[in-house]
Amino acid sequence: MKEALSSEALEALVQRVRQDAAQEAERVMREAARALEQNPQEWEAVEKTARDGGLRIGGSILAAAVQALGNGYEGSRLSCACGGTLHYVSNRRRAVVSLVGSFQLRRAYYWCPTCKASRVPLDVRMGIERTDFSPGVRQAIGRLGAIGPFEQGRQILGELTGLWISSRTHRLVSESLGHALAGKIPRPVAPSEKPETLYLLADGAMAPTRQGWREVKVGVAFAARTVNGKPVRQTTRYFAEIIDAETFGWRWYGLADALGSSRAGRLVVLGDGAVWIWNLAEMHFPGAVQIVDWYHATEHLWLVANTVWGEKHPLSARWVSQATKHLANGQIEKVVAVIESLPARGKIARATVRETSTYFRNNAHRMRYRRFRRQGLFIGSGVVEAGCKHIVGQRLKGSGMRWSLDGIRDILALRLAVLYGPRPSPQKVAA
Ligand SMILES: [Zn+2]
Repeated sequence: MKEALSSEALEALVQRVRQDAAQEAERVMREAARALEQNPQEWEAVEKTARDGGLRIGGSILAAAVQALGNGYEGSRLSCACGGTLHYVSNRRRAVVSLVGSFQLRRAYYWCPTCKASRVPLDVRMGIERTDFSPGVRQAIGRLGAIGPFEQGRQILGELTGLWISSRTHRLVSESLGHALAGKIPRPVAPSEKPETLYLLADGAMAPTRQGWREVKVGVAFAARTVNGKPVRQTTRYFAEIIDAETFGWRWYGLADALGSSRAGRLVVLGDGAVWIWNLAEMHFPGAVQIVDWYHATEHLWLVANTVWGEKHPLSARWVSQATKHLANGQIEKVVAVIESLPARGKIARATVRETSTYFRNNAHRMRYRRFRRQGLFIGSGVVEAGCKHIVGQRLKGSGMRWSLDGIRDILALRLAVLYGPRPSPQKVAA
């Protein structure tokens, strides 16, 4: 077994790194001093020289530390998953790209004559079986790929770290990171957390795919507590996927469960009025308070008024203002009455009046806004709409973007993790 290095070999490695680093530091220092003296105003190039020197020193430290781990040799024979035997063949080299440059790795390589499978134990231990990139590089690519176009991410990474990767590789690495996250239910909150009110919201946003525009359904759950009679939003979690309503329902349920729905003081489903949302609410959250988003309800009033009088007609604005007052008071019967007394002429106007009054009749119990406000409840679903724009619109709708369905799923999962997931603790930096 030549697993990790002996202490003598390790000591020799330390000495070599120390020597290399000292030489490199001296060389870079002389070069930087010379360049700075020639042009003290423009020291951007000097800054780069110093940084690259630092990176090379970091690279030799990382390479030596990996070397100290050994080559992953685990004896001449290993048992194979097929029931056969993996035989040690030789030490094989490969390159790994890290944030401090590329370095070579020597690893013990095994091969099974029965099933022709190979195994490299060191690659498995270091998590690099299917990638040429270090975890640090993958993290950096993923963060950039989540927030903006791949080409832009490639440029930023190259400029800031000196690591130039193709835009295709940027996409592939980002997608593979997202793939591992897709469809996962978020980590549950602690059982001690008992949300006072848990809100469940749903919405959709269109995204350009190679199969045309498709709807990304966005689910949101957030806890809120009442402060001075007003609701204050706390923890918020999202998911966003191209899925059918049924699958959405189960994801929604899983999200609510993770946020402590079974312990919540009350559940509230806030929707835009789309029937599929209420159907899912009845199925997964029976007994939840259902509320039609205030803004969507008022939009219906504008629509019917504009259809009757035409847009920007003074009577239209006056009528909406009156109807909105009834709506705010939760007097939906009065809202229905003023809709039905509209002077609708023509087929379209009459049909719109009919549809709108049906909409308010059917949703009356979801529009008792006065009571909802007294109970300290949110009546607007602005959170989910802002979420839709932020999660879907700002990343997927760039000019010329045409996504594969898998690509959308992976990037959305990655984007949610980067935007709303736990963050690496920020290191202190000088202001
Ligand atoms: Zn085998």
